[in-house]
Amino acid sequence: MCGIVAYIGSKPAKPLLLEGLKRLEYRGYDSAGLAILDGTLQIAKAVGRVVNLETKLKKLPGFEGSLGLAHTRWATHGGVTELNAHPHRDDKSGIAIVHNGIIENYAALKKLLTERGHTFHSDTDTEVLAVLIGELYEGDLEAAVQAALREVTGAYAICVVCEQEPGVLVCARKGSPLMVGVGSGECVVASDPSAIVAHTSQAFALEDYNVARITREGFRTSTIDNKPVSPKMMQLELDLEQAELGTYEHYMLKEIFEQPTSLRTTMRGRVDLNEGKIVLGGLMDCAKELVKIKRFILIAQGTALHAAMIGEYLLEDLATVPAECEYASEFRYRNPIIEDRTAVIAVSQSGETIDTLSALHEAKDRGALSLGVINVVGSSIARETEAGVYLRVGPEIGVASTKAFTGQVAALTLMSLFLARRRFMSAERTRTLLDALNKIPQAIETALESNDLVRRVTEKYVERDNWLFLGRGYNYPTALEGALKLKEISYIHAEGMPAAEMKHGPIALIDDGMPAVFIANKGPQYEKVINNIEEVRARGGHVIAVATEGDEHIASIAEDVLYVPDVPDCLSPMVTVIPLQLMAYHAAVLRGHDVDKPRNLAKSVTVE
Ligand code: GLU
Repeated sequence: MCGIVAYIGSKPAKPLLLEGLKRLEYRGYDSAGLAILDGTLQIAKAVGRVVNLETKLKKLPGFEGSLGLAHTRWATHGGVTELNAHPHRDDKSGIAIVHNGIIENYAALKKLLTERGHTFHSDTDTEVLAVLIGELYEGDLEAAVQAALREVTGAYAICVVCEQEPGVLVCARKGSPLMVGVGSGECVVASDPSAIVAHTSQAFALEDYNVARITREGFRTSTIDNKPVSPKMMQLELDLEQAELGTYEHYMLKEIFEQPTSLRTTMRGRVDLNEGKIVLGGLMDCAKELVKIKRFILIAQGTALHAAMIGEYLLEDLATVPAECEYASEFRYRNPIIEDRTAVIAVSQSGETIDTLSALHEAKDRGALSLGVINVVGSSIARETEAGVYLRVGPEIGVASTKAFTGQVAALTLMSLFLARRRFMSAERTRTLLDALNKIPQAIETALESNDLVRRVTEKYVERDNWLFLGRGYNYPTALEGALKLKEISYIHAEGMPAAEMKHGPIALIDDGMPAVFIANKGPQYEKVINNIEEVRARGGHVIAVATEGDEHIASIAEDVLYVPDVPDCLSPMVTVIPLQLMAYHAAVLRGHDVDKPRNLAKSVTVE
């Protein structure tokens, strides 16, 4: 969600900032802007894609300096207009700012500043922060930013420059991610490493309430109360090639097809088939404590929530320990009871999902052991959890999450088996399950072979505006995920639910020809699912079944069948989700939508 890039050094800032913005495009945004400080501030903004900003800049003279800020905005306060796009400035002091997040007390601050004679040109909360910094500016930008941030509630990642200090870039963060890449005589600041690695591999992530004052000579970091802090430098390991499209038409399709490989990487070195052992370095330090945990709470949002729901089933089923899964945003704001020996597992691709991060803080404050199931190494959640399992699925660029979902399920399976083996599971059963887990990438390869068939089936129903996705047990969350995928990129209304729930109300929706996608693999509830299929058929619904290879009966009751290989039920979501991901992809393409830039969506949701 939203992207920030800033540069200070000796190279021309404009091309570098534009290139950085393009790297961040996948995060989701609606407008873009850039400021160069070259004696005076020069600002350009455009609604829509970064390329619109680029085209506009081609016609504008100037923009030559080597200090600048750039931004892709995901509007929270004020419509998608050029006036509301960032950077925002305070005319009096000559300050320009880019901001990701929400200033929650902006209305009170705006009122105060208006009473003091300030006027505003946009509807954003960000402009209020720009004017506040200007109001507090007394010749020291860093001090003014610190002072302003002491007055602010909410979330922010900001970069600020000031005409009166032409060689200074100040940035700060609370809640929203910001990383400083440190090169020789230059720094690149960005929301995520993909905009930094082309320039330097040395970087540090700013911590909450920390401020960095950067010049061409070096930098200093402090808290907003001006106490010096030393950042933890890290080596960025992102492979930019992994983040490129290659021969695929869309990142989403590329990532769907990458899943056999990405899952092999998730499991590499972690599954010891000979010994029937699970090796998870990230859990070893607290293995003893983990085994004694009495209750797990999994918190997440969106696709990660669906993976976390599967995690809940896995922990109870395999590790025989009570587990529950919750929307992080709901967990955060009720009064969650954290008893002794409770662990919270935060699941997030980016590790920056602010709802999940805030819920994690709440759980930690209440004494829970904190664990992460995260893809992005060094992200906020990864840093703030005591232990965890990285997904290792590589950068996920597609806004609609696919390989991170299967990676999350695989990581949670490994985590559950790690615990199960240390609790009650026999070596033999563990080995059997590990063996089956090891074969999942191959099963996904087979499922992907149905791509053309999935496209043809999707084509038959693509004009329908309402779809149902139904499943039971382990595949109830898969049904939710199938519905979410379809909504996200094809904008078709879809509902996912437990197959049994349908007859408690939603069955009223079923009319002639309504597509109902059933996940009907040969699991323990297969017969029950078949009953539910009959109920839909009896009311004229069209059944598309995701079924186990060799199941001939289902072909006689479903309009269309998408077969997947037979795998143990507890591992099946990683395979049954494949046709659903493909279905969503083809529906979006057939409806003419931009799959990688779905309307209104952001990749990493960094506002509550
Ligand atoms: N709240 C700010 C705005 O609406 C920043 C949004 C963003 O994170 O892009 O302009």
